[in-house]
Amino acid sequence: MRLKIVAGNWKMNLSFEEAEELVSSIADQLEEIDLEETEVVICPPYPYLEMVLDIAEESVFSVGAQNISQFDNGAYTGEVSARMLASMDVDYCIIGHSERRKYFGETDEIIAQKIDQALKHEFIVIFCCGELLSERRAGKHFDVVRQQIEKALFSLSEKEFYNIIIAYEPVWAIGTGENATPEQAQEMHAYIRGLIASRYGNDVANETSILYGGSCNSKNAPEIFAQPDVDGGLIGGASLNADEFIKIIKVIL
Ligand code: PEP
Repeated sequence: MRLKIVAGNWKMNLSFEEAEELVSSIADQLEEIDLEETEVVICPPYPYLEMVLDIAEESVFSVGAQNISQFDNGAYTGEVSARMLASMDVDYCIIGHSERRKYFGETDEIIAQKIDQALKHEFIVIFCCGELLSERRAGKHFDVVRQQIEKALFSLSEKEFYNIIIAYEPVWAIGTGENATPEQAQEMHAYIRGLIASRYGNDVANETSILYGGSCNSKNAPEIFAQPDVDGGLIGGASLNADEFIKIIKVIL
């Protein structure tokens, strides 16, 4: 049985106090919930990791980084390595987010290097893929997603691939208030699962969690998460409100 996952990506938001209040409220509310087979992951900005990790120690959620360096170690001012994050007991890492591709010039090659670094340090990788609006309008969305997945992931061994979670995040839906329809999400998730099956076989494909991301909230989550190939969500804006984030988690249970 594959894991159901709800991951919150706080991006570059919140003061330290606001972050502490948010994660404390999430932790308090999680005490009332039996997560069973569901994993909750919170991905704060780097400077808040230690504070969030301290609270996570007494709670049931896991902690993820929003990014890691493609380099091992050394003179890379401003960067944070997989080894550093692993030494702080961070378990998850988002790689390939469209904002990193767009604003920081991350290519499929750089993303593949980051994934290698992350797996070398035993992270569980939340790999993001998704098409632009122009690519969907041109009917190229399946090809775009296939190429992103093939280039970044398909040189991994089967054993390595078990540490990959895929987040399908159509770029036109991220932070726009316009989510993919449940049918659009299901169609792409089934396609992605088929790609994984053709490269790694049905067992691996059936074990891989595929999350939906893009303006997901407690109102649209019930229909989206009800799709057979949607195993949860990567949540941006709606993860900045504890009550809303908890409502989304409850949808998947
Ligand atoms: C994201 O950034 O991964 C995301 C899904 O953002 P939002 O939920 O705000 O669209």
